[in-house]
Amino acid sequence: MLGSIEKPLSAEKLEALLVRYEDRLHSEETDEPVVIQIEELREALHAGQIVPWFQPQAEFANGKVVGIEALARWERGDGRVVRPAHFVGMLEADGLAAELTDTILDQACRWKRRWQDDGLRLNLSVNVSPATLHDPAAADRYQQIVEAHGLAPSEVVLEITESLLMADAARGLGVLARLRLKGFGLSIDDFGTGYSSLAQLSQIPFTELKIDQGFVYGANSQPRKRAVVEASLDLARKLQLETVAEGVETVEDWQMLAELGCGIAQGYLVGAPVPAIDLADCVRRWRQPH
Ligand code: C2E
Ligand code: CA
Ligand code: CA
Repeated sequence: MLGSIEKPLSAEKLEALLVRYEDRLHSEETDEPVVIQIEELREALHAGQIVPWFQPQAEFANGKVVGIEALARWERGDGRVVRPAHFVGMLEADGLAAELTDTILDQACRWKRRWQDDGLRLNLSVNVSPATLHDPAAADRYQQIVEAHGLAPSEVVLEITESLLMADAARGLGVLARLRLKGFGLSIDDFGTGYSSLAQLSQIPFTELKIDQGFVYGANSQPRKRAVVEASLDLARKLQLETVAEGVETVEDWQMLAELGCGIAQGYLVGAPVPAIDLADCVRRWRQPH
């Protein structure tokens, strides 16, 4: 474990690492290559084994946890937990993107409502497959799902990855505009990896820019990464977008991003994705770095 920590060693760094390690142990997530049959995956989806886990998002200004991102996990019958990298692409290729988005949104809203009833108010972010943006009925359906749980679209942010969106921007634009009119937040995920032009960005009614973790991790010590982060924050300010930095793992990166005026942090420093039942504990355990 010590091999993966940045020198000089401090108590804070060590603590952050231990928390991360505990989360990893606890989560039993597997990154082993998994051989998945599509029939098995379809069954899992229909049997409710594809569930959201949640990762906290904290404000840089005061450290308060203000939101969560729902991240799909396959909780298999044998106790193993499979990450989305192993199955989301397969579901999309099999025409099941809409079902995936619907079930994650639905389950995530149910949990959000439960936390709210317990006094924990959190904005919810959900990942949306670009394929679902071709369906003109998608906007109405998402609204129905959210409202069925007594929530408003304004409490939900839909995340779309920059690269996939730009490949197909024109087709998705109508649904995105409709979603925005209903009050949903719209986030550009993995910003910095998709080569979108300013013109394209200003056409789509985004509300949030999420800086890709590849630029965030180590930005504190790598001037080139830092430059991309600064330019992204500048752009967001000009377009009046909320800013989220993904992959905040160290106190040093937290401090630098805070100084640069980034809005919200998401990353292992605040907490790794956890099953819904563990989220309240995860939020309680988090302490803002000084
Ligand atoms: P993403 O939306 O960019 O999600 C962030 C990923 O970074 C998550 O991986 C998260 O666990 C990981 N992460 C968070 N903080 C840190 C950190 O500090 N350091 C590092 N190294 N990694 C961090 P995850 O959960 O494996 O998700 C991977 C991708 O799968 C997501 O990337 C998203 O594109 C996709 N995905 C997840 N859930 C869904 C879903 O419900 N629907 C669709 N369509 N895609 C999903
Ligand atoms: Ca995301
Ligand atoms: Ca991302």
